Amino acid sequence: MEFDLTTRLVIVGFVFVFLSVLEIAWPQRELVLNRSTRWKGNLGIFLFDVLVIGIPINGLVFGILMWAQTYDAGLMNWLALPFVVKFLIGFVALDALFYTQHRVSHAIPVLWRLHRVHHADTDMDVTTANRVHPLETLWLTFLRVSLAVLMGIPVSAFIAFLLVLNVLSLFNHANVKLPSNVDRLLRFVIVTPNMHETHHSVHQQDYDTNFAFIFSFWDRIFNTYKAESTPLDGRVTLGLDTFRSLPDASFFRLLAMPFRRDSVTTKGGSQGDW
Ligand SMILES: [Zn+2]
Repeated sequence: MEFDLTTRLVIVGFVFVFLSVLEIAWPQRELVLNRSTRWKGNLGIFLFDVLVIGIPINGLVFGILMWAQTYDAGLMNWLALPFVVKFLIGFVALDALFYTQHRVSHAIPVLWRLHRVHHADTDMDVTTANRVHPLETLWLTFLRVSLAVLMGIPVSAFIAFLLVLNVLSLFNHANVKLPSNVDRLLRFVIVTPNMHETHHSVHQQDYDTNFAFIFSFWDRIFNTYKAESTPLDGRVTLGLDTFRSLPDASFFRLLAMPFRRDSVTTKGGSQGDW
């Protein structure tokens, strides 16, 4: 099976347009910053990720995964498990890895520096989903490929995971008002926009919860689930204490954000020097 980046981008593009229309029709929150500046910055980071990381390393990633599959590398191949079992375990394991990596990124300062580029968005909409610093994308890809080789995850499970992750990530960042009963039902299985809104709240007691990306049960299992955000003056504030100005949302500021020393704060908000 071909590791087809183009197909994935086309599907993601359709979902993006569909959710953008829903955001205009049924928004959950009013936007804080000017949409066009934010979108230019967020989509700029996404394009940069695709052009500088995604496309150049796609061949290498695919080559390593195919090599591992051809030579039956990895634990599940040594156990000679049936394909469907390997597929399902592989898919769930990749999601578990993402949950773990996400939690660790909130706990280790150097990783938080990269991850806060995503969190500093003062709004949350479909463009926030792919506002991920290229170095974080690189680090995540390295982790995923390593897990796939060690466990013997089928290439098809890896591709399916990435596709579901991309689509669900757009969905759970979307600024779309879901009926509360639909939200309640969906969040038993997957992460919904309301559940993920708590993770993007400005309060640390909120953003250090709801780390899951696809399956919501990781947060319930590991006791990091929080049903609702902490409102301030009756409304939920998103983003971080710092990086709240319009220029902070521009492409070059986002790219440089992990290396900035001027407004470095610890996660508690006080001045620090990592
Ligand atoms: Zn996070």
